This record gives sequence, structure tokens and C-alpha cells, in this order.
Amino acid sequence: MKEIHDECGVFGVFGHQDAAKIAYLGLHALQHRGQESAGIVTAEGDRLHIHRQMGLVADVFTGPVLQRLPGSHAIGHVRYSTAGSSSLQNAQPIRCLFAGGALALAHNGNLVNFHELRGDLMERGHVFHSTSDSEVLLHLVASSPGRTLADRVAHMMERAKGAYSLVLLSPAELVAVRDPRGFRPLVLGRLDGAVVVASETTSLDLIGATVEREVLPGEVVTAHRGGQGGAGEPVEVSSSQPLPPQPLARCVFEHIYFARPDSVVFGQQAYAVRKELGRQLAREQPVPDADLVIPVPDSGVAAAIGFAEVLDVPFDMGLIRSHYVGRTFIEPEQRIRNFGVKLKLNPVSNLFRNRVVVIVDDSIVRGTTSRKIVEMVRSQNPRAVHLRISSPPTRWPCFYGIDTPSQEELIASRLPTMREIADAVTADSVGYLSVSGLHRAVSGQASGGYCDACFTGNYPIPVEPGYRPHRDPLDR
Ligand code: AMP
Repeated sequence: MKEIHDECGVFGVFGHQDAAKIAYLGLHALQHRGQESAGIVTAEGDRLHIHRQMGLVADVFTGPVLQRLPGSHAIGHVRYSTAGSSSLQNAQPIRCLFAGGALALAHNGNLVNFHELRGDLMERGHVFHSTSDSEVLLHLVASSPGRTLADRVAHMMERAKGAYSLVLLSPAELVAVRDPRGFRPLVLGRLDGAVVVASETTSLDLIGATVEREVLPGEVVTAHRGGQGGAGEPVEVSSSQPLPPQPLARCVFEHIYFARPDSVVFGQQAYAVRKELGRQLAREQPVPDADLVIPVPDSGVAAAIGFAEVLDVPFDMGLIRSHYVGRTFIEPEQRIRNFGVKLKLNPVSNLFRNRVVVIVDDSIVRGTTSRKIVEMVRSQNPRAVHLRISSPPTRWPCFYGIDTPSQEELIASRLPTMREIADAVTADSVGYLSVSGLHRAVSGQASGGYCDACFTGNYPIPVEPGYRPHRDPLDR
């Protein structure tokens, strides 16, 4: 069964002699955004070279593979999608040849009018090879009027609704685009005169690029050679804002969980935000007799530090994580996921006996992981186990690029009271952060231009009728 919620990271570099290697490193620092497939397209002369494969960046891009990707411009992509649509046909970047020449695209986000757009295009004779909304974007760009790539992208933006942080590459230009609501992050930097763009600043840190600024919501940034466009000309950047400004809807979950903590996301360091979420959680949901605060590593670490700080309770790494398994959440089958928690975490013995333990994590989705973790801690004979979550209850699916299961599978949607959720995960109590506390911790305001639909059901862009995880004839 296909779900359309892809989690992804994108990267681009324009004007560097080691473009493929730079893209490899840039993607390596975005690996947390998607572990299923990785791809790079490079531009050399009038050609675009491509390599995409299922697997992790370091496994996919070996020395010989990178050598087959010549050129001084590149874009790259890492992707995770749920079972069914995880095949190579949906891997990115996607590359095509159209009237304007060769073109490639890498997309992070999710369109909410995907079916309508694809239906319209198919009626006009367009054919599709994948089930991804990114292919729809590529067709929209290719079939738009306009002299430059940026002109065509501007037309695409009039039709595409939803979340998109994009990088496009033609032999002569790199274009970076963020949707007008700014759902997903995208940053711009410089490296030795080259222009670089990436989903997160971690990429720019790793390659030694300077972070210049965010690509603004609704902005189209073009990198191209100055002068006659020759290889020796300096790289120039131009920018436009083709659509009228719209209210911001930056994804608050990037701050809670998704981005790497060392990233500066939407202008703020995720680690600092997560610590503040933990502090706010401690104020709202204290555990007065707590002896010990432990995080669920790695997702709960920063929040647990903030939580322990406010309550002045000792913090310990009571659960040790194996670094040789991916995110347990990603295992597609429940059977495997249950086993996966043990594979990933093990309690430190003699730490919990007769003590009141608070476990801090960033979110509960299905509740499977939380239950296993609480049981794991209980097996060490504590006096009590309390669970504290540094975000509000996840009750609604995301349609803008974070993978969430259907609403029926979300534990906080199925079980209306905290008591029921606590019983389901076998904790003595469960406490979540409030929605207002979340916004205060993130932006210092009641609500500061963030999308919180997964907690409130307030979807900033309505989803087209019938938009659900669905069966697609192209899915195997
Ligand atoms: P669950 O067993 O479904 O409750 O899983 C909750 C765990 O998954 C928490 O530790 C979260 O950090 C993590 N998590 C939450 N959302 C996501 C996501 N979209 N992708 C991967 N992991 C997630």
C-alpha cells in the first residue's frame, strides 16, 4: 500500500570542481532525513549524469561510482518512504530531457493536490513512471512556458499546492525553491565561490561552507555563471518571489524531532529548542518525587537535559543505544518493529532499582516503541516509571512531508485520556507538552508561523478530497 508521505533531504552545489564528492558529503550529513535510497545527478557540458540506489549514502556512493559522476554542478537526495512505494523507481533525483534540454529535480515535502495535478497532466497525454509527486513537479516545470528555468518554476508554483523544498539542475543553472508557506527547511551557503543549498546546515558545516541564509519561503534562487556563462566565470545568484506572500507554516516537528539537533532550522538551533521544550515540559508536567531522568536516545536527549535541569533531578543515560541499527520506527512491519527496540536499546543495570524514573522522549506515534522502553526499564525493578513527552499528543497525520501512520494507528487519537495512554504503554503516568507551551518554547510567542497540524488538526493548506494513503496502479 502506498503512502505518499516521503521524508527526504536535498542538497545542491553549483560551480565546484569536486561537485559529486561535495554532494556525497552533503548528503551524508542529511542521512537522518532518509535512509532508504540516495541519489546524485551531476552536470557536465550539456549532459546530466545520474546514480541512484536503494541504501545508505556511504554504501551507495563508493569511489568508482563517484568517478562516474563528473562535472562541477550536482544535486542530491536522500529518501525514506513507507512500505510499498520504496522501490527504486521512486528514488530521486529524477532526470528527464525536455524541450529546454536536460533537467533534474530533487524534492523534500509533499503536494496535497497531487491527484488533481497528475490527473490533469495525464489527460493531456503526460505519462508517469513513478508514484511520486516529485515527478508531477518535474512535468509541471517542463510543460510551463518561460525563457529561464526560474520562469518555468514560477508557473509550477502557481499550480503546486503543499510542501516543497526543491533543487533543480540543468546543465547551466541550479534553482532552489521553497514553497510560500516554508513548510520544509532549505538553506543557502558558499564554498570556495561555489553556491551550495541543503535541507539543513549540518551539510554546510561538514563541507566547510559558510551558511549565508535560508532560502526564503516562496523564494526562487538561481545560481548560474556570470559573463558569457563560461566555466571560468564567477558563480552569480539571482532571486525572485513569484507569488504573493502567504502566512508561514514552518514544520514544528522539524524542531521537535526531525532535524539533526546541531542544525540551525528556521533560524534557531534545534538542540537549544529541544532543551527548552524539555524545560517547558518540566514546568507543565513535573514529577515531584523523581529520582532520575533518562532520555530515550537519541530523540529525547536534549529535552531530557532541559527537563532534569528545571526539576533539579539527576540525569543519566540509562538506556544505551546501539549505533548500528537505523530508526526503529522505519521498520515496516509491526513484528520487526517490536524486535527492533531491543536491537537498538539496552538498560544500564543497577541504575533503576527502587527509584522513581522519568523517561523523556520527543513524541509518541503508535506507542509501540514507548511501551517496549517502559517495559525495559520496569524489568530493572524501579519504584515507578513515568513517561514525559516534549511535544503535544500526535493525533493527526501529516500531509506535508513527515511520515505518520493513519489516524487510527496514532495512540493519542485512539485513546482519549492520559490514563488510557499510560496504561497502554504500562507507565505509571504520561505527560505531554501543551500546544501553547510548544509554541512558547519554539518561538517565544503564542504561535509563531509554525504548522502544528499533527497536534491540532489545523491544516494550513486543505488537502484535496479523497487524499489518503492509497493504492496506486504503479505500486508493486
Ligand atoms: P512509536 O512506537 O510509534 O510510538 O514511535 C515513537 C518513536 O518514534 C519516538 O521515539 C520518536 O522519536 C520516533 N518518531 C516520531 N516520529 C517519527 C517519524 N516521523 N519518523 C521516524 N521516527 C519517528
